[in-house]
Amino acid sequence: MAEQGRQVKPLSVTYTPDMPYKYHAGFYYSRFLKELRGNKRIAGVKCPGCGRVYVPPRIVCRECFVKMEEFVPVSHEGTLLAFTVTNFPYIDTTTGEQKKIPFTAAFIKLDGADSNIVHRLDETDEKKIKAGARLRAVFSEIRTGDYFHDIDHFTMIQDR
Ligand SMILES: [Zn+2]
Repeated sequence: MAEQGRQVKPLSVTYTPDMPYKYHAGFYYSRFLKELRGNKRIAGVKCPGCGRVYVPPRIVCRECFVKMEEFVPVSHEGTLLAFTVTNFPYIDTTTGEQKKIPFTAAFIKLDGADSNIVHRLDETDEKKIKAGARLRAVFSEIRTGDYFHDIDHFTMIQDR
């Protein structure tokens, strides 16, 4: 009863929170997701000042600081800029489940875009992957308005 706070041995309390949530994707990102889901189109937005195309779309050009309103489609194909092959197991924070390994995260510049995106590459043998490789988006048959689901992955293609 007369214990001082700092003399009490702390206990641990086990609690598993259940915190489902949604967030507003914003008008520009919503349009990007709707184009993926409904039309298998990858939408960017073009700056009226410098002509840069941003994917995914953003409202203001990071160079000119002007509002961008012209939505333009970009190619399903692009160039691999960098990649990481992950071989160690960990919990996927988006699903709460063990991530299937190995998997390859790819940093990609789509043709027609001046910004870069991150997505999954289906090749996991790092000896077969080279920066500069040509890639193509592979869409899911059933799309739900989720970037990492509607584009299922990217795959390497031969240059024409
Ligand atoms: Zn600009």
